[in-house]
Amino acid sequence: MPHFAELMSNQFQPIVDLVFPRTCVQCQVKVNELANYQFLCPDCSKEIHFAHPPACTTCGYPYFGVLTGPRKCPHCAELEPVFDQGKTLFLAKGPGRTLLHELKYRKGLYILGDLSLMAQNQNHFIRYLKGARLVPVPLHKDKLRERGYNQSLYLAQTLAQIAPGASVLDCLIRTRFTCTQTRLDRKDRFQNMKNAFALAPRISLNPKQTYILIDDVFTTGSTLNACAEALSLAGVKHIKVATLGHG
Ligand SMILES: [Zn+2]
Ligand SMILES: [Zn+2]
Repeated sequence: MPHFAELMSNQFQPIVDLVFPRTCVQCQVKVNELANYQFLCPDCSKEIHFAHPPACTTCGYPYFGVLTGPRKCPHCAELEPVFDQGKTLFLAKGPGRTLLHELKYRKGLYILGDLSLMAQNQNHFIRYLKGARLVPVPLHKDKLRERGYNQSLYLAQTLAQIAPGASVLDCLIRTRFTCTQTRLDRKDRFQNMKNAFALAPRISLNPKQTYILIDDVFTTGSTLNACAEALSLAGVKHIKVATLGHG
């Protein structure tokens, strides 16, 4: 039985479209087979703000205009990153925000094909992931049971398929169930995440290898930093982060 997403991308597309008409996640208009993306109409896809370089080297937020001054942007000014570098694919606003929301809260795994295509078209992003071990940010097991899937693991798998030499290593576990971060200020978020992650049992890491933490969104960077800390404690020397959206 082919996966639904595979079915959607094969030569039966016109027939499938008749049975399951595809609509844009952002504006709900019908998307036909001539559009670049399966679930984003041409108009809305123009509204995706890709995070092209030059960008903040810590979180990937693009610098608009001439690059001068500090390498850290205001978003991560208070972060003391344990990782070396960060990149993001697009900004979490407009259709970008909708895609992230769909993936995380609405079982939107069907958009992984479109996300893969977006990443493939951003050479700097693919080059960044090349040859690395991609480590998804884990969910606590209670959260995993509630949601049914870890969107970061699916993202890591999607990216590993398109970045040459990259592979997934699902090697971290979430040891503490942290309360929701949305009402906490930046300082409290960092405190809240401290020691929330650990290396899974029976995993050995190669200090010479580059590990890239994968998450759906970069907000304050506190979750990614806590994961980076767990990798660093396990002896990893080259840690980077990559997120789908920033905002
Ligand atoms: Zn649309
Ligand atoms: Zn930044």
